[in-house]
Amino acid sequence: MKIAVAKEIEVCERRVALIPDIVARLVKQGLEVLVETGAGDRAFFSDAAYEAAGATIIADTARVWGEADVVLKVSPPQERSDGSSEVELLREGSVLISFLNPLGNPAVAQKLAERKVSALSMEMIPRSTRAQSMDALSSQASISGYKAVLIGAAALPKYFPMLTTAAGTIAPAKVFVMGAGVAGLQAIATARRLGAIVEAFDIRPAVKEEVLSLGAKFVEVKLDEETATAGGYAREISEDSRRRTQELVAAHIKTADVVITTAQVPGKKAPLLVTEEMVMGMKTGSVIVDIAAEQGGNCACTEPGKDIIKHGVTIIGPINLPSSVPVHASQLYSKNLTSLLQLIIKNNAIQIDFGDDIINDACITHAGEIRNSRVKEALQTVVGAG
Ligand code: NAD
Repeated sequence: MKIAVAKEIEVCERRVALIPDIVARLVKQGLEVLVETGAGDRAFFSDAAYEAAGATIIADTARVWGEADVVLKVSPPQERSDGSSEVELLREGSVLISFLNPLGNPAVAQKLAERKVSALSMEMIPRSTRAQSMDALSSQASISGYKAVLIGAAALPKYFPMLTTAAGTIAPAKVFVMGAGVAGLQAIATARRLGAIVEAFDIRPAVKEEVLSLGAKFVEVKLDEETATAGGYAREISEDSRRRTQELVAAHIKTADVVITTAQVPGKKAPLLVTEEMVMGMKTGSVIVDIAAEQGGNCACTEPGKDIIKHGVTIIGPINLPSSVPVHASQLYSKNLTSLLQLIIKNNAIQIDFGDDIINDACITHAGEIRNSRVKEALQTVVGAG
């Protein structure tokens, strides 16, 4: 059984799918691990470290992908600089496990199905207690929340903590976190550790207790509609609810030094929480870090991948924040991947058991078919729009 670790070709991707420590464990288990030359370089894991862990280092990309029974990656497969595609490198009947963004870019799922690959999407792992060790959305979102606060603190022309000095007293910074999911909660904890006063807002009232337990104030809005799905995710809210939440949060945004926006609705464009008018009402020198930038942004002024100053406010739209902490992001992701790998490898052979709810949800293509109804729907929407 050969497991391959492919080198990421996405320009801003510094993470690697498996770190050497985890490779050593898989080798001990009797699996053969192939690592593409330089796969861990941008996360500071050398070829020598993988070799010492028992992996075989291979320079020929086509061989790494073509020989593998299972290919492990971070970013979804994409076109290569020579015009070929990573999907074509996969052997028919092999397994790919990676972030695949199947709801945002269902065309990749179609290509994987045509290639007769069994593709497991890390985004589709259920958010259940049993799947916690495989939950890469959570492990990586937590890094985003942490890093967003550091970026906000670095861009703020003020201190975060309250300081009493001989030269006078500095008031603590006020941080407003919008969206209190995994990233938002980590942002709250990090901002609190840096000494800020923190307020947080979410349309799901269930998060109130968690926000309070982290020492932040919860800004509550009562809406006349259900705001969460049975799975615990947020729903897209009505225009009327959106207006009411915007009215409520406007006052809190006005007094904030740093606003961290993390709100997302799975499979949809990120909700607009901060209008340009709200930005105009903010204090000069204040900062917005919009970590939903890649999904369209929570702030009307966000430009994905850019830091801009508008109406005296620094607006930062970071892309792929987990990649900026590549050592720990790769460590956590490796653990998520191998936990999933253990579910599909039985007696040194691949067994994809759709009776297992985790496999059933995560496996989006198998035997030439797209087998997830949400991915099929997303594909039809794209085809219809085209
Ligand atoms: P997410 O990234 O999809 O969204 C981030 C946050 O944005 C969510 O808290 C959401 O409620 C909020 N949001 C959406 N629309 C908003 C709006 N208009 N205004 C304000 N906030 C808005 O969320 P996530 O971090 O992936 O977490 C999703 C759910 O999964 C949560 O209920 C979380 O507790 C749950 N979860 C469960 C497990 C587990 O049980 N193993 C693990 C991780 C997450």
